[in-house]
Amino acid sequence: MEDTNSQTSESLSESESGAAKLPGGAKRVGAAIWSYIEKVGQFYWTRQGAIREYLIDFVPLYRSHRLAQHEIRLFAYQTKANASFDESGWRVRLPEWCVVCGNSDCKRVRQKHHLERLRWTIVAPIAALLISITIAALLNNPWMIPLVTIIGFPVGYHLTGKVDVRIEYYRCSEHREAKEFPAMRIFGDQLIIRTGNKSIRGKFLDEGRDQPGAPT
Ligand SMILES: [Zn+2]
Repeated sequence: MEDTNSQTSESLSESESGAAKLPGGAKRVGAAIWSYIEKVGQFYWTRQGAIREYLIDFVPLYRSHRLAQHEIRLFAYQTKANASFDESGWRVRLPEWCVVCGNSDCKRVRQKHHLERLRWTIVAPIAALLISITIAALLNNPWMIPLVTIIGFPVGYHLTGKVDVRIEYYRCSEHREAKEFPAMRIFGDQLIIRTGNKSIRGKFLDEGRDQPGAPT
């Protein structure tokens, strides 16, 4: 038993001394590359739900009709009395009813959000996959598929944009702490706002038609 232990500890110390011979610069570069890969991987891992939702938005057939009744879809090119978009981002004013339950006894909330624009986050890896298949076919080398596809992820990570949204909405005392609504996401040039009560959508659309101008 003692022999085995001593052999193990010897071989360990050998490999340690081998690693120690690596120049400090190479070790630092290796650590930096690894931490970058981790950062990009973590970025995509934590956005699985948002990416799935974005892909579903592409195919209206898969969207839940019930959820769509709770969603307000705004287009960047359309200015309404209660919603507008310019280079500083979106400004939106929801009706004076609770965004969760539609109750009328409410307090106003004003917030600023930074929403991610996931278009390139998704398009870059898909484009890299298509390019990789072409290169693999031209070079007759299937290894080009993973090698080129993987490049799409850091590209998508760096091209992920942000959009500012200034929103004004209302909460009743019961839902003062309910954070799940309004849930917002960006799809292409659209801002999609999900509320907890479908009457908010109807009231919002009515108020948008009421008077010209935009919220300030
Ligand atoms: Zn409420």
